Amino acid sequence: MTRPAAGTGAGAAHPFVLGQLVRDLGGVVGADSVSTDATALAEQSADWSWMSQFLRYRDLPLPVADVVVRPQSTEHVEGIVRIASEYRVPVVPRGGGSGTQGGTFALYGGIAIDLTRMNRIVEVDESSLTVTVQAGIDGSVLEKELNGVGLTLPHYPGSHHFGATIGGSLAARGSGVVSTKYGKAEQLALQVEAVVPPGRRISTLPVPNHAAGPDLLQTLIGSEGTLGIITEATMRLEPLPEGRRFLSFQFATVPAGLETARLIMTRRIVPAAMRLYDEADSAKLTSMLSLDMAGVLLIVVLDGHESSMTLEEERVRAVCALNDGVDLGAGPAQAWWDGKYEPFAKHNAPAPPVVFGTTDTCARFAALPGLYEAKKRTIEEGFAEYGARYTAHFSHWYPWGGMIYDRFYVDDAPDDPDEALALHDRLWDAAVATSLSHGGVINEHHGVGLKLGRFMRPQYGSAFDVMLAVKNAWDPDGIMNPGKLGFGAPRSGR
Ligand SMILES: Cc1cc2nc3c(=O)[nH]c(=O)nc-3n(C[C@H](O)[C@H](O)[C@H](O)COP(=O)(O)OP(=O)(O)OC[C@H]3O[C@@H](n4cnc5c(N)ncnc54)[C@H](O)[C@@H]3O)c2cc1C
Repeated sequence: MTRPAAGTGAGAAHPFVLGQLVRDLGGVVGADSVSTDATALAEQSADWSWMSQFLRYRDLPLPVADVVVRPQSTEHVEGIVRIASEYRVPVVPRGGGSGTQGGTFALYGGIAIDLTRMNRIVEVDESSLTVTVQAGIDGSVLEKELNGVGLTLPHYPGSHHFGATIGGSLAARGSGVVSTKYGKAEQLALQVEAVVPPGRRISTLPVPNHAAGPDLLQTLIGSEGTLGIITEATMRLEPLPEGRRFLSFQFATVPAGLETARLIMTRRIVPAAMRLYDEADSAKLTSMLSLDMAGVLLIVVLDGHESSMTLEEERVRAVCALNDGVDLGAGPAQAWWDGKYEPFAKHNAPAPPVVFGTTDTCARFAALPGLYEAKKRTIEEGFAEYGARYTAHFSHWYPWGGMIYDRFYVDDAPDDPDEALALHDRLWDAAVATSLSHGGVINEHHGVGLKLGRFMRPQYGSAFDVMLAVKNAWDPDGIMNPGKLGFGAPRSGR
């Protein structure tokens, strides 16, 4: 059946079509799980991006959907996507709304899907150490349940207490604070179930390590709702560690700290967490946690068995000594671990009218020192007239490199909202161009959303056309979270 197209590429649906759409959706999820209330629509669109925060701060409208639905099962999501395909209206999924890239903005109207009622633990397999969950489960709620049986899903993003869901973490390729040892969300996933247009349920293979063709799992992961709605996921678990050790060192310069981190990783010592703060970020952290130190701070957290930690600690100390690291004892690292969500607490997190952005990127060891220096210069010198500040820490490491979690801040945003938004975009343009020209990528763990969509083509070059061809074949009407990942608007007509 083909219904009248509603909202495709043009914004809100016509009231006549909207009425039909609401009734049809109610037939799938129940009338009380469908709403067109303006407040509900605005809540569904909002996330933690600067754009979203700024629009709300200035009392300006967010781009909202026409209707919000609250499914409880995969069958419900199948029905919703089938109806969206029939009407050719956009579908915008939302987990906890803790994203920072404008991924939940309903730029072309349509149906917002609130996934937070899909929050069941389907199965804990204590023999294989895996858990299967509905995608809308809040990661911190799941973690409490797992800890109760001595297990953990080692994915603790800074947004752990902002409602971040397992589906959202997979959709945006998230990283938790212990990703260096345990992997990013995409490495913790064994299998996902998703609903794709025109309302079809698909599952990836039961295990991720196979030689059975291209990787469907990793194609759905990171697709941010542009290919389908992740409805269920099976994730790897770990036993809760027997213990943790905390080490802290001070270095004279960022390059000395980076060289230390490089040696730790290339000698294949694998800390649970390792964080190197430049002077500006150290100052912020030490004042937040009331620590008594200054300069470049390196925090190392080891976990596991006592015997292996003893060996790892010895090896970390030896590498730090090679680069004249000054031992600060366990204190700063322990304080960071205990207060690891503190930098995101309301009284510490930046907020409008400050213009800010986390321009995290990732590169090989050889590129990291130059990338850091270049990004610092780009912000501080390129935007000196605005008094722009730059802070950075390095917090997720790989056998071949690491990520820079860096931020720009401009304390006095222009009064005119258009100018403020334009300045925000110019800062991003400059930061991302520097990342790309120095061996980095547009983003390490916050995803792309609306904010970074315009950088996808410059980043991928001709490979972006191949990605676009996959998207167009998968979602011929372009109804899946349109306007994100640089994939453009919905298309009218098949
Ligand atoms: C204070 C703070 C700290 C943060 N720290 C971290 C951090 O340490 N590590 C990190 O990785 N991120 C971090 N983030 C970013 C954010 O929390 C993550 O991107 C998180 O994974 C988003 O999950 P969510 O459920 O809130 O997704 P949402 O914000 O609801 O959605 C994010 C994107 O994914 C899509 N989506 C959501 N659910 C699904 C689904 N089931 N299927 C398909 N698409 C879906 C949405 O359409 C949107 O495009 C932080 C954010 C804040 C505000």
